[in-house]
Amino acid sequence: MRLVARGRGGSRAELARLSGMAPSSVSLRVEELIEAGLLREDGEGASRGGRRPRRLRLHEEAGVVVAADVGTHHVRMSVMDLAGRVVYSHELPGEVADGPEVVTERLRQYAYMTLDQAEVKHLPLLGLGVGMPGPVDPATTRIVAPSRMPGWNEYPVGERLAELMDVRVMVENDANLMAVGEHRNGWPGCENLMAVKVGTGIGCGIIASGRLHRGRGAAGDISHVPVIADTPATCSCGHSDCLEAHASGAALCRTLRTRGFEVEYSRQLVDLVNDGVPEVTTLVRGAGRLAGQVLTPLVNFFNPDVLVLGGGLSAAEPFVAAVRAAIYERCLPLATRGLEIATAVTGRDACMLGAGSLILDEVLASDWVDETLASR
Ligand SMILES: [Zn+2]
Repeated sequence: MRLVARGRGGSRAELARLSGMAPSSVSLRVEELIEAGLLREDGEGASRGGRRPRRLRLHEEAGVVVAADVGTHHVRMSVMDLAGRVVYSHELPGEVADGPEVVTERLRQYAYMTLDQAEVKHLPLLGLGVGMPGPVDPATTRIVAPSRMPGWNEYPVGERLAELMDVRVMVENDANLMAVGEHRNGWPGCENLMAVKVGTGIGCGIIASGRLHRGRGAAGDISHVPVIADTPATCSCGHSDCLEAHASGAALCRTLRTRGFEVEYSRQLVDLVNDGVPEVTTLVRGAGRLAGQVLTPLVNFFNPDVLVLGGGLSAAEPFVAAVRAAIYERCLPLATRGLEIATAVTGRDACMLGAGSLILDEVLASDWVDETLASR
């Protein structure tokens, strides 16, 4: 099931080759899974001469998952079928600062509303994947010391949602999910990838040797790396020279408000840049330079194939140009040879798609498949 889901085992012959099982055993299992409504076989695969192999895919009607990207000011939510296709998606309002109890209850309501609008209420809900804009301990799925989420420290968000909805729940940091979403959908063959999310806050997710690298949960967190800036700006962590305090959407909005601009969201910054407001463009370019300053040693050190820039500010051309310039100016030639620096292929959906992919992985790795087979 996992091989089929990842698009690697599209035929019985491929499954036999990849699993090392005898073709007859593979066929028997495939028949069982088709009978149980978990797989279906149709269409025509690429022919290498002779009879065209039929293509296997996960059965769309076998079940769905809900994927949510909880932002600082919004929730993007979708229903995905077992094959990983987005059936329906939308963006809903919601402040993460409303606190954990309000937000988890809101997520529950939003999830059922989304299932309703996707018209899939008759299909089993197999899981909920959630991206949060703060550090998540992968062992406990608790939020740990987030910077812009008052009241969330040590909140067991995964446990609470599982309780509220009686469903399997996966919780992960949003930048990590952006890395997964971009890797699976934009750069599937790529081994090493960094995805930097610059929105209200700043985060970075890492794909190493094709897999999400979590470390003990904080891997990729670049928000509190010190930068050399003209003026001090106090960070939520108490230091005055953190990248996030100088180059995040929240930091830039704060600076602009002191200069009389009415801005609250990264999106508004991008609008002002696109309108050609010089003061804002200069500020955004400066943020790109600072982000580039932090990313340069990381690109040398990790030497990725792809550096993805996502989040609200990545829609501002001067920001992306400044990051690019800093990296090409200071990185080792060997580190930048063949390096792709690209904005997110999946755009604003990256984290949501990553959340869907990871919860689907969990469902397929669970005993759900065996239980479904046994119950039919
Ligand atoms: Zn800090």
